[in-house]
Formats: sequence, structure tokens, C-alpha cells
Amino acid sequence: MRRRASRLLLEGEMSAGGLCRPRRPVEGGSRVCSERKSKAKPNGKKPVAEEKKVYLEPEYAKSRITDCEFKELVMLPREIDLNEWLASNTTTFFHHVNLQYSTISEFCTGDACQTMAVCSTQYYWYDERGKKVKCTAPQYVDFVMSSVQKLVTDEDVFPTKYGREFPSSFESLVKKICRYLFHVLAHIYSSHFKETLALELHGHLNTLYVHFILFAREFNLLDPKETAVMDDLTEVLCSSGGPGGGGAGGGGTGAQNHVKER
Ligand SMILES: [Zn+2]
Repeated sequence: MRRRASRLLLEGEMSAGGLCRPRRPVEGGSRVCSERKSKAKPNGKKPVAEEKKVYLEPEYAKSRITDCEFKELVMLPREIDLNEWLASNTTTFFHHVNLQYSTISEFCTGDACQTMAVCSTQYYWYDERGKKVKCTAPQYVDFVMSSVQKLVTDEDVFPTKYGREFPSSFESLVKKICRYLFHVLAHIYSSHFKETLALELHGHLNTLYVHFILFAREFNLLDPKETAVMDDLTEVLCSSGGPGGGGAGGGGTGAQNHVKER
């Protein structure tokens, strides 16, 4: 039994510099929302997506803070419980995405980001009764951080005490969290990459993105339709041979989906 493994295994990833404190979740985190998305409608404003995608430029896309082989790092280690591994990594990714967003949050205002736009896709929130919640990007991110914070600290969902079991809905909740975190990462790239670049944190962002995407791939946590909006970036960052992406030789020959082994 190796349950209750440390959930701080990956904390070193974003620790360099320690520039910012994590963004604090807003009050009222009890509100449970789910998002839907749609193509942004023309409203007289130029969609962010039409702008040049600076993050795809090789000189920036190649930036990393480590040349670690993430494909190996994300694999379930022997003797570690799958759900514990998912819980540990999901919680850590939440903290890192929160931290990365906090570095540009002063630029992500209701005026600058009137909608939660990612390229030509716009995300909406729906409350638990299915009512559409009109919100700006920073409000959307607050919803994400509040709801994820609530989940990862819920002892019934992410148990930490000996003898407590993960719920049957655990995997679907992890997928939901990953979808939310992906939206935030995608928004940082599509709307705040220039600020990230000015802060010289693009290496951190790229590293976090590669690690997150490869982890989600390993355990089938993100729907390809969901991530299609950033396929061009994913291809550039995670393709074989890229630093920290496919690794030497690439091709995924060493990939093991441990979920299938169970
Ligand atoms: Zn924004």
C-alpha cells in the first residue's frame, strides 16, 4: 500500500524565482459551474485569435526551464496507486496553473478580456441549474480556481486520510479539472503571451504546458476535441524531438498507458 503519497512530488517545476504568490480563489466557491463553448461571434471587435500567434515562433516555443523527459515523468510509477497518482499530479498542476496565471492576472481584466476567449473559441459558464453565466475572462478563471480548489480540498473527492477511498466519480472529476486548467493555460497563451514574454516566464509556461498535456494524454484525461483549439501549439511543443516533448527518438515507443493495464 503506497496510498497517500506526497502530493508535492512535482513542486520544483515552477519554484524557480518564486515571483508570485498563488492567486487566491474568490469567495463564494460553493457555486458549481460547468462551461460550454461556442465560436466567438463577430461583434465588431477583432478576435484575439486573428492576431499573430507569437507563441508559435520557434525562438519562443523552444524555451524550457528543463530538458526533462516528461513522457517518462508522467508515467505511473510501480507500486503507486493510480488514483493517488492522478490526485497528486492534478493537485500540483492546479497550483502551477494558478501560479502561472497569477503572473499575468493584473493584465487579465474585465476590460482587456471581456470574454473567456481562446483563439476563435469562447467559453461560457453555466450554473448548476443550466443558466448561462455571462462573465469576463478573469471571472471565468475565478470560477475555475474556486471550483477546483473546492474539489481538491474536499476530503470526499480527494481523500488524504488513511482508510478513505476515492469516489467512483473520481476520474470524471479529474477530467473536469483538467478541462478547466486547459482553458486557463490556453487563455494565457492566446491572450497574455506577450506579457508572459515580457516577464521572461514563457519557458515556465511552455514547460508547464508540455508536462500537463503529456500527463493528460498518458491517462486520457482530455478530449481531443477540447484541445483542438490549441493543436498548433501542442504540435510545436509536444512533437517528438522537441525539448521535453517527445524526447529522443520520439514516436511514443516507450509510452505505456497504465490505465489499460489495470
Ligand atoms: Zn485575459
